[in-house]
Formats: sequence, C-alpha cells, structure tokens
Amino acid sequence: MTDAVTLIQAKRDGCRLHDDEIRWLFDAYARNEVADEQMSALLMAIYFQGLDAKELRTWTAAMIDSGDRLDLSSLTRPTVDKHSTGGVGDKVSLILAPLVAACGAAVPQLSGRGLGHTGGTLDKLEAIPGFRSSLSPQETVDTLRKAGCVIAAAGAGLAPADRRLYALRDVTGTVESIPLIASSIMSKKIAEGTAALVLDVKVGTGAFMKDQARARELAQTMVALGNEHQVTTKALLTSMDTPLGRAVGNAVEVEESVQALQGNGPDDLMEVTYALAERMLTLAGITDQDPREAIADGRAYAVYQQMIRAQGGDPDARLPEPEYKQDALIADRDGWLTRLDALQVGVAAWRLGAGRERKEDPVSAAAGIICLVKPGQKVTRGQPILELRTDEKPRFGIAIQALDGAATISDQPPPRSAPLVIEHIG
Ligand code: URA
Repeated sequence: MTDAVTLIQAKRDGCRLHDDEIRWLFDAYARNEVADEQMSALLMAIYFQGLDAKELRTWTAAMIDSGDRLDLSSLTRPTVDKHSTGGVGDKVSLILAPLVAACGAAVPQLSGRGLGHTGGTLDKLEAIPGFRSSLSPQETVDTLRKAGCVIAAAGAGLAPADRRLYALRDVTGTVESIPLIASSIMSKKIAEGTAALVLDVKVGTGAFMKDQARARELAQTMVALGNEHQVTTKALLTSMDTPLGRAVGNAVEVEESVQALQGNGPDDLMEVTYALAERMLTLAGITDQDPREAIADGRAYAVYQQMIRAQGGDPDARLPEPEYKQDALIADRDGWLTRLDALQVGVAAWRLGAGRERKEDPVSAAAGIICLVKPGQKVTRGQPILELRTDEKPRFGIAIQALDGAATISDQPPPRSAPLVIEHIG
C-alpha cells in the first residue's frame, strides 16, 4: 500500500516508481482518491526527472487499461494506422487513409482536434457538409469494413486517463515532456486496436519538436512503446519548416486533399504521403501494390468518397466559402522566395479562425490561408505570397501581425530542396 505524497516525493527525488505503485496511482486517480493537484505535482516531477523505459511501459499500460480497446479482430484485412505529431498544412491523413485502404489494408484512424497553430484532421473533415466524426465503436468497425478506412474521434472510452492528464498538463506547463507525450499518444493508438503503426514525427519551426535530436528521442521512445505492446511501430522524421502543400485551414485543406487524390497533389505533400504509404504497406505485409497507381487509376479517390459517405458526408457538396479574402506578404522586390515560415503561417491561419485556443472553442470551416508562392519559386515586386481567408474582417489585422518577417526573398534561388523525409526510425 502506498499514497500519492510518497510517490510524488519519490519521483521528485529521482527515484524509480515501481509497477505496483503506478498501477495503484491510476486506480486511485480513477476513484478520485488522488487529487488533481497531487497528480499535477507528480507530472511536474516527471517533467524534471523523466520515466525510465520500464516505468514508461507500465505508465502507458495503465493509461490503456483505464478504458476500452477497440476490437478489430473481426476484420479480414491487416490493420495499419499513422499518427502525425502535427504540422502546418498537414493534411496527409485525408489522403493517406483512403490510399492505403485502396491498396488492401484497413486503416482505423482515430484522431484528435487541432489545438493552437496545428490543424486537426477532424476539424478539416467536418468542413464537409454532413460529415460525422463522433462514431460509436460499432459504427467505427462498420465503416472500416465498408470503406476500408475510417477517420473518427477517439471516443471517451479510449484511454480516458489521458484526457484527464492532458487537461492537467495543459494548464501546468508539463506538456513538453518526452515520456508524457509518448505515453499520451501511444496509449490512444494502442487502445485503438491497430496491429501496426507508422509515426510521422515532424521537426522544424512549425512542429511541436523544433529540434532534430528531441524529435528523434520522441520517435525512438514511441517506437519502443508500440513494439513492447505488440503494435509493430516505425517512425519517420519529416521536415516542417514551411507549410506542407499550399492550403492551410479546414475547407481549403479538404479541397487540396481531393485534388491530391485525383492525381494533382503538390510535390511536397505527395513526397511525404508516398513515403508514409510505403512504410504502412510494408508493415501490413502488402508488397504487390504501388500507391502511385492507386492514385492514378482513381481507386484511392473512390475509397475516400466511400468513407465520407459512410460517415454521413457528401463528398460532392460545395465546401464553405469565406466572407472575406485578402492578399498578404506582398513581395517588396523581384527574386526567389527562399523561406516561408511554417509557424508564422500556422499562427496566422489560427488567428483567421481556422484553429482554436481552448479545446471547447468552435473553428471556422472557411478560414485559412492559400500559399500562392512556395519556397523555391520566383516572385516579382508587388506579387502577393499569401491569400488570407476569414469570416470576420477584424481578424485580418491580427493575422497580418503574426506574419511579420515570415518570408525571405533572395537574389539567388535556394539550393535544391532537401528531402522532406529526414530519417527512418525503427
Ligand atoms: N498529442 C497528444 O495526444 N498528447 C500529447 O501529449 C502531445 C500531443
């Protein structure tokens, strides 16, 4: 028998927590016998002292066991999912889930909503009239069976301890801890029931992890956790210094995803999408399918339409249009665009209404940004680099403030762009 104060003191002083202590903690917290302020203090102690591999495995297992697991055993196809740590213009999930399903896997993608400058997959899909992201476990499995993929909200029954812990971390400055991030992400993905998982860990100005060494450590930690819990897990580190594709927002990202599924995706977006698709297919044991062909012959788009319809949406409906559009970042000279900062563009899109500050805030489907010019392209004096979109005119001012210094124009073209996939892990 132990108590919360003893565990807080132990972790504060750099001691290991034993398996039975971690199990006791989560059980007692679920019964409200450990108070939120005690859990917050322990989270801060973990922020400073960390969790070793054994502690982290038990911590994650206790988070999974706090709720239900989705049972995908009735599916005949191999299951494989992808998780991105979040970026600007990162609409890869919308393309990748139907693409990998079109190649023969089942993709159970349970996602979250956007917070801050990174968009959320569910917010994007909810721009489609009628689309429902809150599905029961049975509806989730039925959609998977019908379409081969599903993109839905992780229900309240999946790793509920993470929900409570994340809310505490959010208000106590303890989000940026590698063991806490890794256990948070992986508990939800393991509870989702997928057999295999590919992680897209973003690195760069627009990413959660700005620094490659920290991103690598997070990726390695999550890969180890997945494999320890019998989910075959690999990771890619991919660059997030500039927005992915041209569209940043909700409806605009759906539009760009549809174009990509119809074979007209921008090169950078498709480079990341195909790299992840290839990894997912390998993990699913599917070796005779080329994702490029599944786009070219329309199979991936057909699966997308099926998934949207199965979730109540109309894939052919007109998407919401903004009330106002305005050009921004006007080139002050002729030259080459050599930098367009992902974080600043993400913050501007958020301020235009595409993102939320608190998790209960609504988002605007029509707000967002179109990158009219991307790094590597020529610009002439007077040419706008961005088009801003919003439903509320006063938002233009605060969005433009966020864009101060976001672009660099040089006399020389930038060196050939480096591959977006920086490293494979696992
Ligand atoms: N996303 C999550 O789901 N959890 C974290 O802790 C950070 C990002």
